[in-house]
Amino acid sequence: MWAASYLKVEMKDYYGVLGVDRDASEDQIKKAYRKLAMQYHPDVNDSPEAADKFKEIGEAYEVLHDANKRALYDRGGDPMGGGQGFSGFQGGGFDFTNLVDAMFGTQTQRGPRSRTQRGDDSLARIKLTLAEAVFGVTKPLKIDTAVICPNCNGSGSQDGSAPITCANCHGNGQVTIVQRSFLGDIRTTQPCPNCRGFGTIISNPCGECAGEGRVRTRRTINVKIPAGVNTGNRIHLDSQGEVGPGGGPAGDLYVEITVQKHDVFTRSGDNLEMIVSIPMTAAALGTEIPIKTLESEREDMADQGTAQLNIPAGTQSGDRVVIPGRGIPRLRGSGRGDLGVTVAVKTPTKLNHKQTELLKKLAEARGEESPEAEITHQGRGVFGWLKDALS
Ligand SMILES: [Zn+2]
Ligand SMILES: [Zn+2]
Repeated sequence: MWAASYLKVEMKDYYGVLGVDRDASEDQIKKAYRKLAMQYHPDVNDSPEAADKFKEIGEAYEVLHDANKRALYDRGGDPMGGGQGFSGFQGGGFDFTNLVDAMFGTQTQRGPRSRTQRGDDSLARIKLTLAEAVFGVTKPLKIDTAVICPNCNGSGSQDGSAPITCANCHGNGQVTIVQRSFLGDIRTTQPCPNCRGFGTIISNPCGECAGEGRVRTRRTINVKIPAGVNTGNRIHLDSQGEVGPGGGPAGDLYVEITVQKHDVFTRSGDNLEMIVSIPMTAAALGTEIPIKTLESEREDMADQGTAQLNIPAGTQSGDRVVIPGRGIPRLRGSGRGDLGVTVAVKTPTKLNHKQTELLKKLAEARGEESPEAEITHQGRGVFGWLKDALS
């Protein structure tokens, strides 16, 4: 038996990569590279193989256009210095994006850009009581925002003076830079650094806004909140956001709502829910009890501040009695949900002698002098309601 191990050094076929003969001239290599690089540059070719192919082409060119490296490669050596990859263009002071822009005209912006731009949208938060959220309210809201500069009216110039044409770009807002490279002269267009692309210069900036055309301020707006909103809802106010640079049109304002917890009423979908306690006798005999509603917190709804709660005879702790149409107005659609009232039955305490005697007689009449405990199974039962109501 014999064993042999081979160390196979795989040499890349750089000539094949560029599609040139082994005796190709420097000029032919340059031309072949240029053609392939433009075809596979990731900016112009978004196929998944393009990036690898582009790298491969670059590596081949780096070796073959350098006479020393090419000679080493032709002798079977490793001109890339043992495993070190292609260095890429980044270090070479050559910006391929500019090259591609110059060749394909992919830079779309032409001419000076406007000083006037639309402002940003902004978000404000507002806290509401439950009654405000349920019945709607108009509330003042303080916001910190950008407004049009009152001194220059958005122009950015002091005393009505006009901006002057930029001497560097002659008002074009762009300058063309010529770079010499092996591919010939490369012309790239950039925003003018002197006027930041505007084509004009504010020679006499406004003292209030320093030429911005807008200033920051705190202002108060009245926000109209529709009936039935809930935590997380956003009110969209057109053009109430930040004024843009150069006094540009304002963005929009979104007001996000948080509804504070109420100590009596909770919200469940379109319904309001509450828990009331009633005397044991009322629960047994049935009755009508007035209760205070959420409307009682609104002066303009004082006439609806109470509602009659109808307790049927034999009401148990945990029974839910519904007052229809006294819940939350539907944001989309019409009408209101219900007011659900869960009843807790109060056992009398501190009985006097007469009351004790009466209850004993009642127990006797009902054969309950020595009652048996009724087993309540886990999960739902007489007391299940309490867990449900409180959760
Ligand atoms: Zn300029
Ligand atoms: Zn100003």
